[in-house]
Amino acid sequence: MKILVTGGAGFIGSAVVRHIIGNTQDSVINLDKLTYAGNLESLGDSSSHERYAFEQVDICDRAELDRVFHEYQPDRIMHLAAESHVDRSIDGPAAFIETNIFGTYTLLEAARAYWSSLNAERKGSFRFHHISTDEVYGDLDGPEDLFTETTPYAPSSPYSASKASSDHLVRAWHRTYGLPILITNCSNNYGPYHFPEKLIPLVILNALEGKPLPVYGKGNQVRDWLYVEDHARALYKVVTEGKIGETYNIGGHNEKQNIAVVHGICELLEELAPGNPHSRRSNENRASDRVGAGFSSLVTYVTDRPGHDLRYAIDASKIQRELGWTPEESFETGLRKTVQWYLDNLEWCRRVQDGSYQRERLGANV
Ligand code: NAD
Repeated sequence: MKILVTGGAGFIGSAVVRHIIGNTQDSVINLDKLTYAGNLESLGDSSSHERYAFEQVDICDRAELDRVFHEYQPDRIMHLAAESHVDRSIDGPAAFIETNIFGTYTLLEAARAYWSSLNAERKGSFRFHHISTDEVYGDLDGPEDLFTETTPYAPSSPYSASKASSDHLVRAWHRTYGLPILITNCSNNYGPYHFPEKLIPLVILNALEGKPLPVYGKGNQVRDWLYVEDHARALYKVVTEGKIGETYNIGGHNEKQNIAVVHGICELLEELAPGNPHSRRSNENRASDRVGAGFSSLVTYVTDRPGHDLRYAIDASKIQRELGWTPEESFETGLRKTVQWYLDNLEWCRRVQDGSYQRERLGANV
């Protein structure tokens, strides 16, 4: 199969590309605009594989989308390209409306024109898989409640409202035009190649530098965490085995309060980076007035984000029952792997933080 992955230079998209190239015989066309969030260095060896191609294209550009469809003749589309950072959507919603809503509409129309032109056999096997978030459901009231595939939409932020809009468009293109779609709504992802603006990498990198570890409000927001490679496996299952028109919720059954996640990272760093000057055991720390304080003493509570949802948690029983997918990582094993990955890949982080990953690709004009 030829799979066109939009947003394949992003955090989850790059995990999907690495999974397909590393574990299947399928080819990938990675279509990405390379915004600040796109980093081709996240693809590792996959980017030099003969089954991999890259196209720097904006999903809002219909002519370019038509060209790519015509040139590569994909069998599947996995649509991950999006503006994805909630805080950025509060500061500047326009890009979220443009890419997440207008871009998804443009991609749907290009896909529909291409799909209509296929012969009966290829038309029958074509799929458009839209990757979305559990944030479209708003937050949960009761401590035991879970989001199911039929939970009504109630998005709170410009980001989640734009993703909800895109989900509605994708469903409408199925109901109205018969486009063979699949939708997945997933909980918070974490793992390698996550941009340092997101909670888990931010805390790891700030802690190593002795900077404050910012925690919104009281840190009592609950998120259901899923290791990104488990998500990539789930997405591949859905795009290959999912039933047309269906939605699948994906989650890790790992509900944690943000403050517990932050302290969990600090404890792992105490174990995995004992020589760091900000650790509990370091000589410098022992000699200072922060004796025995360690990484956890860097936690700093900051004013909560407006419209911050308190609790998200996913009921992932449908994908488990119907497609046989379950996560392989527990939060404990996944977090340990993640912290270790950041310790081993500080150079990748430095190139993101100082912007050199962007400057060099502009120079190389890839
Ligand atoms: P990301 O921000 O890391 O990556 C987004 C990618 O899309 C980047 O490579 C960027 O260059 C590209 N892009 C942005 N605008 C584009 C445009 N107009 N045209 C083409 N490419 C464009 O995002 P992510 O965390 O990898 O999320 C991927 C998808 O998964 C998103 O749709 C997001 O809503 C969804 N999702 C994310 C999470 C999470 O925890 N990160 C959870 C559930 C669902």
